Formats: sequence, C-alpha cells, structure tokens
Amino acid sequence: MAGDAAGAVPRPDGFARTRTLHVRTGFMCQNDCIFCCDYGTGVHGASLDPPYVRHLLEQNVGLGCVEFTAHEPTLNPHLPLWASWARELGYPIISVVTNGRLLGRGDLLARLLAAGINRIQISLHAHTPALHDRMARRRGSFADQLAGVRAVLAARGRDPRLTLHLHTTVTAHNVSELPDIIPFILGLQPDAYGLNCVFLTALAERHADETAVRYSAIVAQLQRCLPAVKTAPIFVSELPLCQVAGKLAVDYFGLREAFHLAEARQPDAPARPAERGFDFGPQCATCALRGACDGVPPAYVARYGWEEFVPVTGAALALANGAQSADLQTLLAAPAGEWTITGTERRSGFTTVHLTSPQLPRPLTLQVRPRDDAFPAFARTATLNITLAGPYHAADEIRLARQLVAAVQGRE
Ligand code: SF4
Repeated sequence: MAGDAAGAVPRPDGFARTRTLHVRTGFMCQNDCIFCCDYGTGVHGASLDPPYVRHLLEQNVGLGCVEFTAHEPTLNPHLPLWASWARELGYPIISVVTNGRLLGRGDLLARLLAAGINRIQISLHAHTPALHDRMARRRGSFADQLAGVRAVLAARGRDPRLTLHLHTTVTAHNVSELPDIIPFILGLQPDAYGLNCVFLTALAERHADETAVRYSAIVAQLQRCLPAVKTAPIFVSELPLCQVAGKLAVDYFGLREAFHLAEARQPDAPARPAERGFDFGPQCATCALRGACDGVPPAYVARYGWEEFVPVTGAALALANGAQSADLQTLLAAPAGEWTITGTERRSGFTTVHLTSPQLPRPLTLQVRPRDDAFPAFARTATLNITLAGPYHAADEIRLARQLVAAVQGRE
C-alpha cells in the first residue's frame, strides 16, 4: 500500500522539473563561507578547458538552461566568452551563480550582460555586515555583495529581460534572524528569493558544531516568518518533505532542480543527473513522499538521529493538498462575481482550475503553477505562472483571464 502511495504522489510543485546544465566554471573564491559545499576560499584545481566547455554546451542545448557555477565563476576570465557561446548556441536562460563581489565595480557586469548572461544569482546570507561577514568569513563581503546586487538591479531597470535571484543559506548563525533577513532581502525586489537550508556536507560538516541546526528549528522559524498563502517569490530548498508537509504551503518548495553536472573526466558523455548520496531511515519505506524525497545527509543523521523524521501518510498529504487548493481558490477568487471557480485538480507540477463566467459561453480551464520563468505562461504574477488550457482562445476568454491575473496581482 505504501509503495502504491509513493508511486501515486507527485513531487510537490516545481521539484525536479527544471533541468539545467551546470558548468563548473569557478575554481577559486575570495570568500570562505563556513558552510561552503565547495570547500571555501583559495584555489581548487584549474579551470575547465575551453574546448571541453564548448563541447558540453553543444551537447546539452536541449536542456534550455545553462548555469555557470561552483566556487566563484566571475573569477574565471573565460566566463564572458563561455556565456557568449551559450547565447550563440541558443540557450534561452544563461545564468551565473555568484557571490556578486565583483559585479559592483569595473566593467565585468556590463561584459557579462553583453555576452548573453540573462539571470544572475547572488548569495546574501544576512541583513547586516556583522552577521554576513561572520558567515562568509571575509570582512567587507556584505558591502561588496550588496553593491553587486544594486548594480544588477540597476541593469535590470534598463533591461527587464535580466532576472535577479537572491539566495540565503540558513545555518545556526542566522536562523533566529530570519524575521529580519527575509523582509530585508525581499525589500531589494529580487525576481526570486531562495532560502537554502544548510546540509551537512563539505565545510558545513567540518564546522557542524557552528553550522548545524535541526530541520524542525528551521521550520518553526519559517512558520513564524512566511505567510500561509505564498505572496512573494520565495522558495525553500534542502528540507526533507516530512518536515514541511502540512506546515508550510508546498509552493514554497518550487525551485529544486534536477542537477546536471559537467563531468570533466568523461568529455564525451552528456551531462547527467548528479547523485546526492543521502540516506533514508527505516521508517522512510512507509512514507507517502519517499519517491519525491532526496533523503538526509548522513552527517545530519549521525548528529541528530532519525527521531524527527515521521513518515507522511497519504491521508495527511491529502489534507495538506486540500488546504493548498483552498488557498489557491482564495487567491483566484473573483472580486465581484465576474467568475466562479467550479473545481481544482492537483497534478504533477501544476493545478488545473475550472471556472465559469456570465461573460463566457463555455467553461474556461486554467493551469496554475508556482512562478517559473523557464516555463511558458499566458501571464506571470509575483508567485504564479497562469496558462490557458487548450490551443485556441476567444477574445472574451483572454479578457477574463486578464481580469483574473489582475485580481491575483492585487492580492499578492
Ligand atoms: S520520512 Fe523519510 S522519505 Fe519521508 S520525507 Fe522524511 S526523510 Fe523523506
């Protein structure tokens, strides 16, 4: 029975939908973040060979999104050239994951944008220099990174096709400060904000006495900080799903990617999904979310045990999904009877919404998913992609859908 449930339960919205080519562009970093999964500051090996990167980009155009990542990619002088190759090959999304320290000075940002970078992801772990610099273990890193964020915001003002994603890693250092950190970061107006809960690997594992925090403590804090209905483009990652089911809206968990990594030792193989190597406890076999779960880092289990991992039952999940549908109905409700929602059906990655209206001769069906700029949509709100189901739509249907989008935007 448990096996049936695991097979039938879709991954929460957005999980593992986005397939991205991750090119490990960086090989050194100026920061020394205490939780770094790339082992912090200094030089680590050497840059990938340019011909290999070209080959990799050519082989994986179908993924649609390339992300230049690992260590600090902006310290690799090849980055603008490699970004220009991605643009020439037709990747719609060309992204760089960076600490942003170099983006607020000189002409690097302008060169990256000219080369085709259209999504910039910057980490900012706190709302004050003291806390951020303690986590990054570099004095001045907060000031530099905030200057980088502001430079990208200014560039986005000139070119709205550029998107800015901000990320905060949640550790024992900053978990109690989330009520101040979250509004500070949202006040910068990123297109998306990712809260990445520390997982105990690499430097985070080495410094576990300082970094480790129980998932239950993070979730308790998030429950205080995040509204029950998602009204801002916030995404939370690296929390096992049993910790959040029924406690936080599932659409907060929307941007987990199926990782595709460049394998430098296998130049002819296409990039393939990375193995995470995390553990499952004995109780996980009965969990309705087992098929959607990445497991738990072994160092976390060694420290805290399996007690807080209570398998999710199919009934609990149905209850959580029911609450989610009610939230969505509230968000999509007509302000003054212009339409009536007649039903919602949760699918893998999206919800189908049926509605009728005196303005329409027949029912209209929408597909609603957490906002994801990589997916085509009729319209995007701050938190949602809204799509009209079916190939053709009459002018009155489009007019009504626009009214509905405006209603959602007014509530977000
Ligand atoms: S109980 Fe186990 S399988 Fe279920 S969500 Fe938690 S860690 Fe994952």
